[in-house]
Amino acid sequence: MMKGAGVIAAAGGLTLGTIKVARAASRPGCRDWTQPDDADFVATIGKDKFTFLDRALSVIENEVVPKTLEGVHGGSKLFGAAVLKKADLSTVVASTNTEAGNPLLHGEIQTINDFYEIPKDQRPSPKDSIFISTHEPCPLCLSGISWAGFDNFFYLFTYEDSRDAYGIPHDLVMLEEVFRCPDGSYNENNTYWKSWGLRDLIATTGPKERAKLDQRVEALKVIYAEMSDIYQKAKAEGKGADVPLK
Ligand SMILES: [Zn+2]
Repeated sequence: MMKGAGVIAAAGGLTLGTIKVARAASRPGCRDWTQPDDADFVATIGKDKFTFLDRALSVIENEVVPKTLEGVHGGSKLFGAAVLKKADLSTVVASTNTEAGNPLLHGEIQTINDFYEIPKDQRPSPKDSIFISTHEPCPLCLSGISWAGFDNFFYLFTYEDSRDAYGIPHDLVMLEEVFRCPDGSYNENNTYWKSWGLRDLIATTGPKERAKLDQRVEALKVIYAEMSDIYQKAKAEGKGADVPLK
């Protein structure tokens, strides 16, 4: 008998032969979905929403997009990310997907790697940092952000955008196929981090602020549509990155 089986049997009345059956028979899907609220935002970020949103869009516009434009020309996907300091919202790192070299190097993972390349005495703690992702993180990156120690992340485009606007459905498919989480229903308020969609936050700002921010999001949609065309064209011509999930 395998070590530990007695403990399992004592705790739940299960034997090794029935563990798999018991799991398969459990309720499908993940635990209940919960969302962080405004008080969580203040506790996590400590800045007013407009100041934060203005800076989050700026880092995407000015630091992530130029790198992603270069990346899509090299056959990599259009996902990018950045880390900011909570204290003054300055940029620590900004990076983009580099899957042309390795299919695991999603924008978020490349950003985490770059963050940890900074000598320990020169980089902030992940708990003192803000994680910004251009697109809602896939299961790999949700886990990467957790393992890397960040207590938050923010994203611009949703899973549905990745599937419908950018032709990349793997996030939603993988959540359902592997984790049995239908409709991208991961827990947005958990013991590791709290997450927000930037556009959901923008929708809660005042009319004048919202108009300004919405205009920038619309401009970013155009830029990402152009970068998506470059990526999809390269893929169609067989010049994209040689990765299993295109
Ligand atoms: Zn990912």
